[in-house]
Amino acid sequence: MIQDITPRIYHNEYKDLQPKDNDFILVFHENKVLVRYQGEKLRYPTLAELREYPCTYHYLFSIDNFQYFLASPFSFAPNFEEPLPPVTLCGYSYEDIRIFRTANSRHTAFAGITAHHLFGWYQANRFCGRCGHHMQPDHKERMLFCPKCRNMVYPRISPAVIVGVTKGDYILMSKYAGRTYTNYALIAGFSEIGESAEQTVAREVMEEVGLKVKNIRYYKSQPWSFSDTLLFGFFAKNGFRPGFSLREAAAQPAPAPAAEVSPGTAIMSSPTEHTQVIASSLSRVRAPEAAAAEPIFTTGKNPEP
Ligand SMILES: [Zn+2]
Repeated sequence: MIQDITPRIYHNEYKDLQPKDNDFILVFHENKVLVRYQGEKLRYPTLAELREYPCTYHYLFSIDNFQYFLASPFSFAPNFEEPLPPVTLCGYSYEDIRIFRTANSRHTAFAGITAHHLFGWYQANRFCGRCGHHMQPDHKERMLFCPKCRNMVYPRISPAVIVGVTKGDYILMSKYAGRTYTNYALIAGFSEIGESAEQTVAREVMEEVGLKVKNIRYYKSQPWSFSDTLLFGFFAKNGFRPGFSLREAAAQPAPAPAAEVSPGTAIMSSPTEHTQVIASSLSRVRAPEAAAAEPIFTTGKNPEP
Protein backbone atom coordinates (compact mmCIF):
# COMPACT_ATOMS: atom_id res chain seq x y z
CA MET A 1 0.00 0.00 0.00
CA ILE A 2 1.08 3.57 -0.61
CA GLN A 3 2.24 4.18 2.97
CA ASP A 4 4.42 1.05 3.03
CA ILE A 5 7.88 2.54 2.60
CA THR A 6 9.90 0.16 4.77
CA PRO A 7 12.79 0.30 5.58
CA ARG A 8 12.34 4.05 5.40
CA ILE A 9 10.66 5.67 8.39
CA TYR A 10 8.10 8.47 8.08
CA HIS A 11 8.15 11.09 10.87
CA ASN A 12 5.13 13.39 10.82
CA GLU A 13 5.62 15.21 14.13
CA TYR A 14 5.26 18.94 13.55
CA LYS A 15 8.42 21.05 13.86
CA ASP A 16 8.74 24.80 13.53
CA LEU A 17 11.66 24.81 11.10
CA GLN A 18 12.89 26.67 8.08
CA PRO A 19 14.64 24.74 5.29
CA LYS A 20 18.37 24.36 4.87
CA ASP A 21 20.18 24.09 1.56
CA ASN A 22 19.97 20.29 1.25
CA ASP A 23 16.35 19.92 2.32
CA PHE A 24 13.80 18.86 -0.30
CA ILE A 25 11.19 21.37 -1.42
CA LEU A 26 7.82 20.34 -2.84
CA VAL A 27 6.57 22.85 -5.38
CA PHE A 28 3.03 22.39 -6.70
CA HIS A 29 1.11 24.24 -9.33
CA GLU A 30 -2.53 23.16 -9.24
CA ASN A 31 -2.39 19.36 -9.63
CA LYS A 32 1.17 19.29 -10.88
CA VAL A 33 4.46 18.88 -9.06
CA LEU A 34 7.92 20.15 -9.95
CA VAL A 35 10.26 17.18 -10.40
CA ARG A 36 13.10 15.83 -12.43
CA TYR A 37 14.05 12.25 -13.13
CA GLN A 38 17.34 10.72 -12.03
CA GLY A 39 17.26 7.60 -14.13
CA GLU A 40 13.83 6.19 -13.31
CA LYS A 41 13.65 7.85 -9.90
CA LEU A 42 11.84 11.05 -9.06
CA ARG A 43 13.78 13.85 -7.49
CA TYR A 44 12.56 17.07 -5.89
CA PRO A 45 14.51 20.33 -5.89
CA THR A 46 16.48 21.38 -2.83
CA LEU A 47 16.39 24.79 -1.22
CA ALA A 48 19.82 25.53 -2.71
CA GLU A 49 18.28 25.17 -6.17
CA LEU A 50 15.31 27.40 -5.28
CA ARG A 51 17.10 30.25 -3.56
CA GLU A 52 15.81 32.80 -6.05
CA TYR A 53 12.13 31.94 -5.50
CA PRO A 54 10.78 34.28 -2.78
CA CYS A 55 8.06 32.09 -1.33
CA THR A 56 6.90 30.95 2.10
CA TYR A 57 8.10 27.55 3.29
CA HIS A 58 6.21 25.17 5.56
CA TYR A 59 7.89 22.21 7.23
CA LEU A 60 6.05 19.03 6.21
CA PHE A 61 7.69 15.86 7.59
CA SER A 62 10.85 13.82 7.50
CA ILE A 63 11.61 10.45 6.00
CA ASP A 64 14.64 8.98 7.74
CA ASN A 65 16.88 12.02 8.15
CA PHE A 66 15.67 13.83 5.04
CA GLN A 67 13.44 16.85 5.65
CA TYR A 68 10.66 17.91 3.28
CA PHE A 69 9.20 21.41 3.01
CA LEU A 70 6.34 22.91 1.05
CA ALA A 71 6.89 25.98 -1.10
CA SER A 72 3.75 28.05 -0.88
CA PRO A 73 3.19 30.57 -3.66
CA PHE A 74 0.99 32.49 -1.21
CA SER A 75 2.18 34.48 1.74
CA PHE A 76 0.13 34.59 4.94
CA ALA A 77 1.01 38.28 5.27
CA PRO A 78 -1.91 40.69 4.76
CA ASN A 79 -2.15 42.57 1.47
CA PHE A 80 -0.49 39.71 -0.40
CA GLU A 81 -3.40 38.56 -2.50
CA GLU A 82 -1.91 37.27 -5.72
CA PRO A 83 0.06 34.03 -5.99
CA LEU A 84 3.58 34.11 -7.29
CA PRO A 85 3.96 32.80 -10.84
CA PRO A 86 4.98 29.10 -11.03
CA VAL A 87 8.70 28.70 -10.51
CA THR A 88 10.76 27.37 -13.39
CA LEU A 89 13.98 25.49 -12.81
CA CYS A 90 16.46 24.16 -15.34
CA GLY A 91 16.13 20.38 -15.71
CA TYR A 92 12.80 20.25 -13.85
CA SER A 93 9.28 20.06 -15.21
CA TYR A 94 5.74 20.01 -13.81
CA GLU A 95 4.20 16.53 -13.86
CA ASP A 96 0.66 15.48 -12.99
CA ILE A 97 0.40 14.22 -9.40
CA ARG A 98 -0.98 10.93 -10.74
CA ILE A 99 2.67 9.94 -11.29
CA PHE A 100 2.76 9.26 -7.54
CA ARG A 101 0.63 6.16 -8.07
CA THR A 102 3.49 4.32 -9.76
CA ALA A 103 6.64 6.43 -9.37
CA ASN A 104 9.97 5.26 -8.01
CA SER A 105 11.04 5.27 -5.37
CA ARG A 106 7.99 4.50 -3.27
CA HIS A 107 9.00 6.71 -0.34
CA THR A 108 9.54 9.62 -2.73
CA ALA A 109 6.08 9.10 -4.23
CA PHE A 110 4.54 8.82 -0.75
CA ALA A 111 6.27 12.07 0.26
CA GLY A 112 4.91 13.76 -2.86
CA ILE A 113 1.27 12.83 -2.48
CA THR A 114 1.29 13.49 1.27
CA ALA A 115 2.78 16.91 0.60
CA HIS A 116 0.08 17.61 -1.98
CA HIS A 117 -2.58 16.84 0.65
CA LEU A 118 -1.08 19.55 2.88
CA PHE A 119 -0.61 21.91 -0.07
CA GLY A 120 -4.36 21.76 -0.72
CA TRP A 121 -5.09 22.44 2.95
CA TYR A 122 -2.82 25.48 3.16
CA GLN A 123 -4.26 26.85 -0.10
CA ALA A 124 -7.88 26.38 0.99
CA ASN A 125 -7.38 28.08 4.35
CA ARG A 126 -5.64 31.33 3.59
CA PHE A 127 -8.68 33.19 4.91
CA CYS A 128 -10.83 32.48 7.94
CA GLY A 129 -14.01 30.64 7.04
CA ARG A 130 -15.80 32.34 9.94
CA CYS A 131 -14.85 36.03 9.56
CA GLY A 132 -12.77 36.30 6.37
CA HIS A 133 -9.61 37.58 8.06
CA HIS A 134 -6.15 36.36 6.99
CA MET A 135 -5.19 33.11 8.72
CA GLN A 136 -1.82 32.66 10.42
CA PRO A 137 0.23 29.48 10.79
CA ASP A 138 0.72 28.36 14.38
CA HIS A 139 4.28 27.62 15.52
CA LYS A 140 3.58 24.82 17.99
CA GLU A 141 1.43 22.45 15.96
CA ARG A 142 0.17 22.06 12.40
CA MET A 143 -2.74 24.43 12.72
CA LEU A 144 -3.89 27.70 11.18
CA PHE A 145 -5.59 30.25 13.36
CA CYS A 146 -7.45 33.51 12.88
CA PRO A 147 -5.98 36.35 14.96
CA LYS A 148 -9.31 38.20 14.78
CA CYS A 149 -11.90 35.62 15.87
CA ARG A 150 -9.56 32.85 17.22
CA ASN A 151 -10.86 30.27 14.79
CA MET A 152 -8.51 27.25 14.60
CA VAL A 153 -8.27 24.99 11.56
CA TYR A 154 -6.47 21.64 11.47
CA PRO A 155 -5.60 19.57 8.37
CA ARG A 156 -8.64 17.94 6.87
CA ILE A 157 -8.72 14.17 6.58
CA SER A 158 -11.96 12.69 5.25
CA PRO A 159 -12.86 9.17 6.38
CA ALA A 160 -14.01 6.84 3.65
CA VAL A 161 -14.52 3.11 3.22
CA ILE A 162 -13.63 0.64 0.55
CA VAL A 163 -15.20 -2.79 0.64
CA GLY A 164 -14.69 -6.17 -0.92
CA VAL A 165 -18.14 -7.73 -1.06
CA THR A 166 -17.57 -11.44 -1.43
CA LYS A 167 -19.60 -14.51 -2.11
CA GLY A 168 -17.54 -17.65 -2.29
CA ASP A 169 -14.79 -17.04 -4.82
CA TYR A 170 -16.52 -13.97 -6.23
CA ILE A 171 -15.91 -10.37 -5.39
CA LEU A 172 -18.06 -7.46 -6.38
CA MET A 173 -16.50 -4.71 -8.46
CA SER A 174 -17.95 -1.65 -10.09
CA LYS A 175 -17.26 0.74 -12.89
CA TYR A 176 -18.50 4.29 -13.11
CA ALA A 177 -19.76 5.99 -16.19
CA GLY A 178 -18.45 9.46 -16.95
CA ARG A 179 -15.26 9.22 -14.88
CA THR A 180 -11.67 9.69 -15.96
CA TYR A 181 -10.80 6.53 -14.01
CA THR A 182 -12.02 3.79 -16.35
CA ASN A 183 -10.97 0.58 -14.60
CA TYR A 184 -13.07 -1.59 -12.36
CA ALA A 185 -12.84 -0.83 -8.67
CA LEU A 186 -14.21 -1.97 -5.36
CA ILE A 187 -17.19 -0.14 -3.94
CA ALA A 188 -16.02 2.90 -1.99
CA GLY A 189 -17.38 6.12 -0.61
CA PHE A 190 -17.09 8.83 2.01
CA SER A 191 -18.59 8.58 5.48
CA GLU A 192 -21.47 10.89 6.24
CA ILE A 193 -21.73 12.84 9.49
CA GLY A 194 -23.18 10.77 12.32
CA GLU A 195 -22.46 7.46 10.67
CA SER A 196 -20.03 4.68 11.67
CA ALA A 197 -17.62 3.21 9.14
CA GLU A 198 -19.64 -0.02 9.14
CA GLN A 199 -22.82 1.93 8.41
CA THR A 200 -21.01 3.66 5.55
CA VAL A 201 -20.18 0.26 4.08
CA ALA A 202 -23.79 -0.89 4.17
CA ARG A 203 -25.10 2.40 2.78
CA GLU A 204 -22.58 2.71 -0.04
CA VAL A 205 -23.13 -0.83 -1.26
CA MET A 206 -26.88 -0.34 -1.20
CA GLU A 207 -26.68 3.04 -2.92
CA GLU A 208 -24.30 1.95 -5.64
CA VAL A 209 -25.45 -1.55 -6.49
CA GLY A 210 -28.64 -2.15 -4.58
CA LEU A 211 -27.33 -5.06 -2.49
CA LYS A 212 -27.63 -5.66 1.22
CA VAL A 213 -24.45 -6.87 2.91
CA LYS A 214 -23.80 -8.83 6.11
CA ASN A 215 -20.78 -9.88 8.22
CA ILE A 216 -19.03 -6.54 7.74
CA ARG A 217 -15.45 -6.97 8.97
CA TYR A 218 -12.70 -4.35 9.23
CA TYR A 219 -9.50 -5.31 7.42
CA LYS A 220 -6.89 -2.51 7.14
CA SER A 221 -6.62 1.20 6.59
CA GLN A 222 -4.71 3.30 4.13
CA PRO A 223 -4.05 7.02 3.76
CA TRP A 224 -5.19 8.08 0.32
CA SER A 225 -4.05 11.66 -0.04
CA PHE A 226 -5.14 11.89 -3.68
CA SER A 227 -8.56 12.69 -2.22
CA ASP A 228 -7.59 13.88 1.32
CA THR A 229 -8.91 10.57 2.53
CA LEU A 230 -8.20 7.95 5.16
CA LEU A 231 -9.61 4.78 3.64
CA PHE A 232 -10.90 2.03 5.90
CA GLY A 233 -10.88 -1.32 4.17
CA PHE A 234 -13.61 -3.84 4.90
CA PHE A 235 -14.81 -7.19 3.74
CA ALA A 236 -18.49 -7.98 3.72
CA LYS A 237 -20.60 -10.87 2.57
CA ASN A 238 -23.18 -10.44 -0.09
CA GLY A 239 -26.62 -10.40 1.43
CA PHE A 240 -29.40 -10.37 -1.07
CA ARG A 241 -31.17 -8.35 -3.65
CA PRO A 242 -34.57 -9.65 -4.69
CA GLY A 243 -34.31 -11.62 -7.89
CA PHE A 244 -30.54 -11.40 -8.19
CA SER A 245 -27.33 -13.04 -6.94
CA LEU A 246 -23.67 -12.57 -7.79
CA ARG A 247 -23.36 -16.08 -9.19
CA GLU A 248 -26.32 -15.46 -11.45
CA ALA A 249 -24.65 -12.27 -12.67
CA ALA A 250 -21.44 -14.14 -13.43
CA ALA A 251 -23.35 -16.52 -15.65
CA GLN A 252 -24.66 -13.74 -17.83
CA PRO A 253 -22.86 -12.62 -20.98
CA ALA A 254 -20.87 -9.41 -20.64
CA PRO A 255 -22.30 -6.50 -22.60
CA ALA A 256 -19.27 -4.27 -21.97
CA PRO A 257 -16.26 -4.04 -24.31
CA ALA A 258 -14.46 -7.39 -24.07
CA ALA A 259 -11.09 -5.78 -23.44
CA GLU A 260 -12.30 -4.46 -20.14
CA VAL A 261 -13.70 -7.69 -18.81
CA SER A 262 -11.50 -10.58 -17.80
CA PRO A 263 -12.51 -14.18 -18.40
CA GLY A 264 -14.92 -15.39 -15.80
CA THR A 265 -16.53 -12.03 -15.26
CA ALA A 266 -19.85 -10.70 -16.27
CA ILE A 267 -21.69 -7.44 -16.04
CA MET A 268 -25.17 -7.00 -14.83
CA SER A 269 -27.34 -4.08 -15.66
CA SER A 270 -26.94 -1.18 -13.31
CA PRO A 271 -29.45 -0.42 -10.57
CA THR A 272 -28.54 3.22 -11.09
CA GLU A 273 -27.85 5.07 -14.26
CA HIS A 274 -24.25 5.76 -13.26
CA THR A 275 -23.08 2.35 -12.21
CA GLN A 276 -22.30 -0.94 -13.85
CA VAL A 277 -21.44 -3.87 -11.68
CA ILE A 278 -19.44 -6.96 -12.34
CA ALA A 279 -19.20 -10.11 -10.32
CA SER A 280 -15.67 -11.19 -10.96
CA SER A 281 -14.06 -14.50 -10.15
CA LEU A 282 -10.77 -13.03 -9.02
CA SER A 283 -9.14 -16.07 -7.50
CA ARG A 284 -6.39 -14.01 -5.86
CA VAL A 285 -8.87 -12.17 -3.69
CA ARG A 286 -10.32 -13.91 -0.68
CA ALA A 287 -11.88 -12.96 2.58
CA PRO A 288 -9.11 -12.31 5.13
CA GLU A 289 -9.70 -15.41 7.21
CA ALA A 290 -9.45 -17.62 4.14
CA ALA A 291 -6.22 -16.43 2.58
CA ALA A 292 -3.53 -13.79 2.80
CA ALA A 293 -4.37 -11.81 -0.30
CA GLU A 294 -5.15 -8.12 0.13
CA PRO A 295 -8.21 -6.40 -1.25
CA ILE A 296 -7.50 -4.30 -4.29
CA PHE A 297 -6.99 -0.79 -2.97
CA THR A 298 -6.86 0.66 -6.42
CA THR A 299 -10.00 2.68 -6.57
CA GLY A 300 -8.81 6.21 -7.25
CA LYS A 301 -11.77 7.39 -5.33
CA ASN A 302 -15.22 6.57 -5.76
CA PRO A 303 -13.62 9.32 -5.13
CA GLU A 304 -12.38 10.35 -8.49
CA PRO A 305 -8.61 9.87 -8.72
ZN1 LIG B 1 -11.77 34.69 11.88
